Amino acid sequence: MNANTPLSNATNADLHCHSKVSDGTLEPEALAARAKANGVELWALTDHDEIGGQQRALDAALALGLPYLTGCEVSVSFAGKVVHIVGLGFDHRDPALVAGLRATRGGREQRAREMAAGLAQVGIRGAYEGALQYVANPELISRTHFARFLVEAGHCSDVSEVFRRYLTEGKPGYVEHRWAGLGEAVGWITAAGGQAVIAHPARYSFTPTEEYALITEFIAHGGRGIEVVTGSHSAADALKYAETALEFDLLASRGSDFHSPEESHTDLGQLDLLPGRLTPIWQALQARVHQPAH
Ligand code: AMP
Ligand code: MN
Ligand code: MN
Ligand code: MN
Repeated sequence: MNANTPLSNATNADLHCHSKVSDGTLEPEALAARAKANGVELWALTDHDEIGGQQRALDAALALGLPYLTGCEVSVSFAGKVVHIVGLGFDHRDPALVAGLRATRGGREQRAREMAAGLAQVGIRGAYEGALQYVANPELISRTHFARFLVEAGHCSDVSEVFRRYLTEGKPGYVEHRWAGLGEAVGWITAAGGQAVIAHPARYSFTPTEEYALITEFIAHGGRGIEVVTGSHSAADALKYAETALEFDLLASRGSDFHSPEESHTDLGQLDLLPGRLTPIWQALQARVHQPAH
């Protein structure tokens, strides 16, 4: 694909994945190479609450001839749950965006210590130090790093089991945390020239009323996109949220949410295409795509 190739629903766009800069296991350069090898035609790295990997991802993508959109996945508190908002196509040097994300990351260290204290109460010792062994970015200690440690230490057989038994609401290692507000996250992204997208909407187990509130407030704050085809959705979820995109006139996004070759069931670029009746968010972001030199 080059600057003259039109973007369409048939574009193999993968606009959601994670590197070691947050809770993935690969470096941004290795992800760029994997995306290219898997046939991705438009790529974005979307680390949690962190854009410190963006320049590396951009440089690596362009060196491989792979068009690139900047990205991040912002953790937001909404209706007592955590919602993820993906930002795409922003200026990754925008000072307000950089400062907002830094503030959002700020509580993770303290939360991690409280998580470890909760785990110690059920007999799991050294979880804070253990999780830290898996952390590349000290500002971004995540539940995923705890999960990797608990598997390694033999408490569970895989990461999903750790979340189920220890790291979700009501479980010993879960600590309620105050993340960014919905309006803040959407505001940072759009003020930096990007578009905001509701990530994996099927994952939140909201009531219909809460989901309606999320979508309408998101739109009121200037959000325009929703993930329809994602590694976090079943085929039925994708159908449901295709209808939601049409109902609310939202632009559709697509991304694997790839974290790790060992843990992720959906690899980069290995997703169904967007249904033809939807408008892809990458059409609205065409001018924001970083194109390789020919
Ligand atoms: P945090 O931002 O520290 O709360 O961690 C959230 C991350 O945990 C998500 O981005 C996922 O990578 C991971 N995660 C959440 N729920 C699960 C689950 N049920 N199984 C595996 N990983 C999960
Ligand atoms: Mn993650
Ligand atoms: Mn997410
Ligand atoms: Mn993600």
